[in-house]
Amino acid sequence: MKQESSQLPDLESAYMRELVNSDSRKSFVAAVRLFLRQVLAGMHVESHYDQVITAIKRDPCYQDLNNSWEELDPETRGHKWQELMEKLVQVAYAGRPYCVRCGECCRQGSPSLHLEDAELLSQGLISTRQVYTLRRGEPVTYSIEGRLDILSEELVKIKEDPESRYCIFYSEQNGDCLIYDHRPLQCRFQECWNPALLKGLWDREKLSRRHLLENDPDLLELLQAHDERCALEKLDAAFKQFHQARDLTALDQILDILSQDTAFRNFSTTKLARDKEELDFLLGRPMTEIVRVYGMKVIKDEDGVYHLVQDR
Ligand code: SF4
Repeated sequence: MKQESSQLPDLESAYMRELVNSDSRKSFVAAVRLFLRQVLAGMHVESHYDQVITAIKRDPCYQDLNNSWEELDPETRGHKWQELMEKLVQVAYAGRPYCVRCGECCRQGSPSLHLEDAELLSQGLISTRQVYTLRRGEPVTYSIEGRLDILSEELVKIKEDPESRYCIFYSEQNGDCLIYDHRPLQCRFQECWNPALLKGLWDREKLSRRHLLENDPDLLELLQAHDERCALEKLDAAFKQFHQARDLTALDQILDILSQDTAFRNFSTTKLARDKEELDFLLGRPMTEIVRVYGMKVIKDEDGVYHLVQDR
């Protein structure tokens, strides 16, 4: 749905203001044609133009606007135009019921994995170096709304490029997925021409570290100990204590949790010989990164002592 709505023209734009203020029916017809061409170009199916314009001209919403444009006031034109554009996008997508591998969804971030994706890892099509864990209780910012939320269940996700935030399997050079034939379940459900399908994914069980490590008691023990000592709920409570009660002792608690997290990571690489690249999967994102969601960052002074400071 996000992709569809993002294609709607901005009613506040100069072009749209000019259009709704114009009494000319010809301007209305030209704007419909122009907008449709833009939508189809974004979907890489410009050749569908004749088919979609014919369908939209039969729609009562189009016919109503076409017959009454000159008599309507600008505000009513704006509302009706918006309604027509939503219809137009729906009709355009309905005419293209297949993936053209445009990469649009891959550029919006990476997928979370589901139980059905476990075999991608067991078959080595995706490695644990290419995924990371968002632990239960982790504060996450939803990029579209900027809303901060606490995760109620663990997620294992494909890593993203640190700069672009694109899924690491998206090739900018080819504009395509490098593992398309073996892409995760979420990618298969993300049919931009059929947004309703994605809702069918909500009830599917998410993949967790414990599903993938069930035959490795040593690692399960490590996860358990890390989850207890470096619980994100403890971190959240300490930040609340600091931000709401201005209790400076909470900073010591936070630094203690961070140093334990660092110790677990060092232990995993030195004593368990785990690859550094795997740590974001085994232990989740470093807690020194997570504190940035709370507006803080860790710095080391010249004596090698760590401090928490405001992250501007
Ligand atoms: S796995 Fe492939 S299809 Fe899925 S988001 Fe990444 S690049 Fe796109």
